[in-house]
Amino acid sequence: MFIIILGAPGSGKGTVSKLLSEMVDVKHISTGDMFRQEISKDNRTGRLVNRYISKGLLVPDEIVNNIIVEIINNNEKGLILDGYPRTINQAKFLEKVLHEKHRQIDKVFNLDINDQEIIYRTEKRRICSNTECGEIYNLEFKKPLEFNTCDKCGEALFHRDDDKKRIIQNRLELYHKRSKEIVSYYENKGLLTNIKLNLNENITKKELKKYLK
Ligand code: AMP
Repeated sequence: MFIIILGAPGSGKGTVSKLLSEMVDVKHISTGDMFRQEISKDNRTGRLVNRYISKGLLVPDEIVNNIIVEIINNNEKGLILDGYPRTINQAKFLEKVLHEKHRQIDKVFNLDINDQEIIYRTEKRRICSNTECGEIYNLEFKKPLEFNTCDKCGEALFHRDDDKKRIIQNRLELYHKRSKEIVSYYENKGLLTNIKLNLNENITKKELKKYLK
């Protein structure tokens, strides 16, 4: 099963993807998380993608597409794709790759949220620095039990540089410029469902289950 999660930065793509991954038992891949791992390793790919990410810009399609092919080839069972595709070029590329493997996109969820809420959420978002864990917190509505410490693995939490106000505004601007096109692309294919993330994960799960049938 291949499921795509669309939505603005900070809209809850990571949270919804994790829930879906448990529900349908396929791996969750976040291109953003993957890039942050490369950046933390300070390797060639990391340095390259950081030039774009640190400015709130998209990483060029060619780099992302090459990485995605490899991931798809290694995950025959399917994937929850979080943060990919982000451009029409990427969407068409994905379709071609899946078609060649006689596979298809089964569902696309689009997270609905307004900009004010996003700026507020990303200001308060904290992420576990252990890349194997990556648990997402919010200082308002999903606080860690202990200050700046991950409940799951005990590692320190951090505030992403690109979640800070100046960068998030760039990311949002870019998102709005591109999202309409990609949302209508999947809408026209009859694959799109708009959902709103509920702070109560059980309610979101129920909602997702309804649309997976
Ligand atoms: P995210 O964690 O999904 O918000 O992604 C963080 C950053 O990684 C984005 O602002 C982009 O710079 C980059 N990125 C992630 N996924 C993609 C993609 N599919 N295409 C281009 N850039 C991406």
